[in-house]
Amino acid sequence: MAVPDVQQPLSAIGCDACQSAVQSGGQQELSFLLLDQLTIPVLSCDEHLEQFSSVCGLTSEDTVDLLHHLPAGGLSCPSCRLVPYNSPHPLVRVQDGAIIPLACPEHQTEIVQRFQTGIQTQHQLTVGLDTSTGPSLKDP
Ligand SMILES: [Zn+2]
Ligand SMILES: [Zn+2]
Repeated sequence: MAVPDVQQPLSAIGCDACQSAVQSGGQQELSFLLLDQLTIPVLSCDEHLEQFSSVCGLTSEDTVDLLHHLPAGGLSCPSCRLVPYNSPHPLVRVQDGAIIPLACPEHQTEIVQRFQTGIQTQHQLTVGLDTSTGPSLKDP
């Protein structure tokens, strides 16, 4: 069996469910993240997939969908369809878990950037609540 060539040791993942999903190399647990025009095949456990999608959702006005099967229309990007499961993919840390986007390099980069932007947005929201300086929306 081919083992995904991840760039961090799998032992760095604190979540057992994420580890087994990642180690399956796409033979199981493959989910699809639908964000704006993107359909990204991802490997992770349900819990961290939810966290990842909600963070990515902060960068979009639309809702993020998670599917546990290939969407009806398939993948719109021909390059994503051709990505082999055993090629190197970045491991994206999500708290104590991790996800692997199994997309073409272009869309892989895009979803990772969305996630990083989402993390910053989330951080700013948290900081805003803590300090409550400056203009903010408050209940009357
Ligand atoms: Zn997990
Ligand atoms: Zn693609």
